[in-house]
Amino acid sequence: MQKLVITIDGPAGAGKTTVSKALADRLQYRYIDTGALYRGVAYAAKAKNIAADDDKGLKNLCRDLELQFVRTDTGVRLFCGPTDISDDIRTPEMSMMASAVSARPVVRKALLGLQRRLGAQKAAVFEGRDMGTVVFPEADVKFFLTADLEIRASRRHRELEEKKSFQKYEEVEKDMQRRDHNDSSRKTAPLKPAEDAIVIDSTQHSVESVIEQMMHHINPKIAAAP
Ligand code: C5P
Repeated sequence: MQKLVITIDGPAGAGKTTVSKALADRLQYRYIDTGALYRGVAYAAKAKNIAADDDKGLKNLCRDLELQFVRTDTGVRLFCGPTDISDDIRTPEMSMMASAVSARPVVRKALLGLQRRLGAQKAAVFEGRDMGTVVFPEADVKFFLTADLEIRASRRHRELEEKKSFQKYEEVEKDMQRRDHNDSSRKTAPLKPAEDAIVIDSTQHSVESVIEQMMHHINPKIAAAP
């Protein structure tokens, strides 16, 4: 059976995380959340008082930064050195800061090698913004998952409530719009579908239905002779 690299890009709140995790479980592949890495850089920059436009500071920070995904009893966690930062990176402030640092080419360059190393063994589902366009242009199957802004914002609003990190719906929607605009309009690795990506709009679809659509494209690749 072929082992694949599968990429899932798309805007915030499109359901990428839920779908990527479920797909990885189904295929018994690793799930890799590259947004967490940008959030990790944002978290470390904030801790060290490095501004999001301080390229020299960010370059030095990234050079010494030890970000690592670690499998634990409670799932895969992101560590920065010895510290589990998985929960701290999920705040609205870290979302905006991650979007700001991710527009800096020094940061993107620093994370490129790490992401490609994670993909070297294949059998992985990568979630992000530029997985199919920049990090894995040769990926076996590329998806671009999207949904209407209102649906995406209400999903994110609910998620934040579940984590007891309250933010008004209107603010969630505004932040999301701003983040999508930043991510899509930046010069380096902007958010956009790869030319050969399969675009799926999840607005009217359940997670199961999205997974079924994806498996329809993945199955023939898995079965294909090497
Ligand atoms: O996916 P998530 O919302 O956690 O990503 C946080 C931010 O990290 C995004 O808004 C985007 O700016 C950035 N990001 C990126 N490239 C990726 C993954 C995330 O620029 N591959």
